[in-house]
Amino acid sequence: MRRKILICHIINTNTGMIGRVEFMPSPKDSPESGCWSLTESIDFASSEMSQQDFSFTLWDVDHGLCIWIQTPNGQNHWIDCKKTDGFSPSEHVKKNHEVSRLDYLIVSHPDTDHINDLPNIVKALGKPRALYRNKTLPDSEKFKSGSLECQTVYKELDTTYTSPVKPENDPHNLVVNGGVDIQVGYNAYSQEMSGNNTSVVAFYHYAGWLFVCPGDIEDGGWKKLWQARKADFELLISKSKWRVLVAPHHGRTSGYSQDMMDNIKPHLVIVSDAAGQSETDRRFRENPPGLKIKVAPESEARLWKYLSTKGGGRVRFDISGTGSYKIHQYEYWG
Ligand SMILES: [Zn+2]
Repeated sequence: MRRKILICHIINTNTGMIGRVEFMPSPKDSPESGCWSLTESIDFASSEMSQQDFSFTLWDVDHGLCIWIQTPNGQNHWIDCKKTDGFSPSEHVKKNHEVSRLDYLIVSHPDTDHINDLPNIVKALGKPRALYRNKTLPDSEKFKSGSLECQTVYKELDTTYTSPVKPENDPHNLVVNGGVDIQVGYNAYSQEMSGNNTSVVAFYHYAGWLFVCPGDIEDGGWKKLWQARKADFELLISKSKWRVLVAPHHGRTSGYSQDMMDNIKPHLVIVSDAAGQSETDRRFRENPPGLKIKVAPESEARLWKYLSTKGGGRVRFDISGTGSYKIHQYEYWG
């Protein structure tokens, strides 16, 4: 299949340097796919300015998933949005990080442990400027009973975000997001497939770092998706020097896929689950080669193979444009 390539030349008005960016939409997730919509247009000029670190935060939300990504030009992406009784990540970010806009929301799958902070995120940061979710699910899977507020909000988004986003506003466009390579994909729904295996899988690559966020996908679903999207995913894997895998299905044995581990070869696995509920599969804890990390201000750097929200709280990565990194995991940071 032939692919369209968008080549952009960017002039940095401060330094006068000219950069070239190639943007290759994948066939399934091209902006023409109709998976996108935008509520207002992005201030394109300002989105190119002021490079900062790429940051990736896995929030501590007990059993569930909530990830906040800030791109080098300050765009805010979220993958899933879980809260606990006492803590809403979106409210925290609004209050403590002066963030008041949601540029892109990816919903891996609409189980409550992945979307129960939706009402708060819309209140705190506004509606997402672009949305990505598995559009093939039947209404009974998408909206479940419809009795919870998060299900009502999800239905409102799902049914109104139906227009294609323009390439110049596409959050996957490297010019729009400040140089982050993103690939997303999912298996089309079938009756034989579990809801977990319809999870959206998202790959984020920046400065040699790859973060893979596979929702709750299990081995069968991963194999099917890998077969369909191998070329796109392998491109980002081959570009990366360091790879971090968010453990699928909260690190439980049902989420372990040897194929996924062999395909991605993560250096570090990060787990989002409640303490004392279910054991993290030991292969997530033992198989990665590890990364040398100083996880807390008072600690010494040492080799870590996995980090879990169960005992250590939220995990934050800050990646500079040269690939240098800081990884923090401790209960109370700003
Ligand atoms: Zn889950």
